[in-house]
Amino acid sequence: MAKEKKIVKVEKDETKKEEKGSYGFDKEGKIVKVENKGDAKERAKTKRILAIVLWILAITFEVIGILRLTDKINWFSNIDKVPFVIGAIVLDLAFFIPGSLLWKKANHIDPRSEKNKAAFWTWNNLGTILSVLAFLPIIIFVLTSKDLDKKDKTVVTAVATVALIIAGISSYDFNPVSSEQLEKAQKEVIAEVGVDRVYWAPTSKKYHVDPDCPAFSQSETIYEGTVADAYEKGLTDPCRRCIHALEEEHEEEEE
Ligand SMILES: [Zn+2]
Repeated sequence: MAKEKKIVKVEKDETKKEEKGSYGFDKEGKIVKVENKGDAKERAKTKRILAIVLWILAITFEVIGILRLTDKINWFSNIDKVPFVIGAIVLDLAFFIPGSLLWKKANHIDPRSEKNKAAFWTWNNLGTILSVLAFLPIIIFVLTSKDLDKKDKTVVTAVATVALIIAGISSYDFNPVSSEQLEKAQKEVIAEVGVDRVYWAPTSKKYHVDPDCPAFSQSETIYEGTVADAYEKGLTDPCRRCIHALEEEHEEEEE
């Protein structure tokens, strides 16, 4: 016999004018609170502000590294110049990557229109563009330094170049979402089931319009939410299996 499935809902609380936290029941029948979601645009805005703060902090570490390299400051004078500068580059990267990940996440919650392709690309890959600013200047200062010997220059340049590549790639959005794409997906779901409501399991790669989709046969918990909620989880493709099943049902009804 099939296991009984538990549906975890992501519901809207009208009185609070924001989406209430999702809840449901675990295996023992206990209520599970998943997360507290606010308005999509507001949530995206918070993530974008935090991303910018993290990027600024990252670039601040680069500037500190450059200042120490050029003897403008002498902080932590007990640490040699080379390990200090490498430490600054590592901190630069450690703040830069979370900033970029938040930026990309915000753009999946509140996507931008793709009508202007250049603006769309620039906005989605702002982290990749900024990674040049976060690592290239220090590379130039290292290479032109009169203070460092050849070996030190090679080591620090290698570290900064690897950091630049890691930051650039991790900031790039390989699967960007546009507002048109999200709107089309919402319309399709509404056309099929009459309401913006979809389902997914923790291991799902797609969202489903039918909570009884065979894809859920092994799932004990499934989540219910809007298409935007599914997009936020990185699920941007609908399960064709349940959409086709629904379409067949509609056709039978019409006959
Ligand atoms: Zn399905």
